[in-house]
Formats: sequence, structure tokens, C-alpha cells
Amino acid sequence: MKYPKSLQDLIDSFQKYPGIGPKTAERLAFFTVMKMNAEEVKKFSLSLNEVVEKIKPCKSCGNLTDAEICNICLDETRDNILMVVEGTKELMVLEKTNQYNGKYFVLNGVISPLNGIGPDELDFDKLIKKIDEEKIREIIIATNATVEGEMTALYIKNIVKNKDINIYRIGYGLPAGADIEYADEITLIKALEGKRIM
Ligand SMILES: [Zn+2]
Repeated sequence: MKYPKSLQDLIDSFQKYPGIGPKTAERLAFFTVMKMNAEEVKKFSLSLNEVVEKIKPCKSCGNLTDAEICNICLDETRDNILMVVEGTKELMVLEKTNQYNGKYFVLNGVISPLNGIGPDELDFDKLIKKIDEEKIREIIIATNATVEGEMTALYIKNIVKNKDINIYRIGYGLPAGADIEYADEITLIKALEGKRIM
């Protein structure tokens, strides 16, 4: 016997999430149907629709936002320093340390030849434009300490090295292979303090 189509569709949707296998997807779908009330489910489906419609990368820095330009880019009290991060999650983690008052550039990915992601897939032109237009005087490359993160950092260094700016790599008290997203605050503060010239 098969599940009714709408239930099977929901199971299939849950299975699209990373780390969710068929059994867990089934459990989540059943939980939705049996344990959540109609209002909660409606709210959930509304959020899904809304993020698809409203959330997009900031035109200036790539940070996920519901406006054309994100709050951080609009904040005139921020220093003309640019921290380059892999994603908005990393930006949020770094913001929480309260140790940095510059701007960001969010790559929304890393160079990863194994996954078919070359430099053309990431918007480095936008990075160059931001550096030039906003007269950035320093960039700190805070990609993760993974092979892809290091590769991306080196690529960025090469495309900006002719500009009159200081280029730093975030200092890693983080173990090799570590994701910034999961680092604790103390480690991150140390990593910011330990930035080194590239
Ligand atoms: Zn922005």
C-alpha cells in the first residue's frame, strides 16, 4: 500500500533537507499531520512561502535580507573594513561576538572543484565593486579552515592583491577543518584577535 499522495509529497519534501533520511522524513510528516494543530501547520507553510518570496541576497554584500540592501550595509557607523564570510550563518555567529564593527561580504558558497563550483559561480565582481566603491581599506578573509575555504581565501587574495588594501586571514585557534558556524564564542574572539596578514 502507498501513502496518500499529499502525505507522500510531504515526506519527500522533508527528505530534501540535509541529514534527513526516509525514516526521519516519515516521522516528521506524521508529526505534522498527527501532532501539530492546523494553526501551527499554516504558520509553517506561510513561513516557507514567505522566505521564498522575500528573502534574497543583499545587492551590496550578499547577506540574506528582506530588503534590497541589508541593515549592515546601511549602517553608517560601521568601519570601512570588509569581513569575507561563506554564508549568512557565519556572519550571524561573528556578529554575536560583538568584537567586530566593520562590514561584510557574504560569498554564499566556496570554490569547490569537486562539487563543480568554480570562481565563476561566486560573485567576485560584486566583491571588487564593493571594495572600490566603498573605499574599503582592509579585508579580513574569514572562510572556514577547510580545503575549500583555504582555496577560496587564496583566490580572493590574488584578485585583490593589486589594490591598496591590507589583506588578513582570520587567525585560526579553530582546528583545521573547522566550521565557523559551530565555533564557540571564545574561539571566535581569539580567531579575530589572531588575524594575520596574507
Ligand atoms: Zn548588505
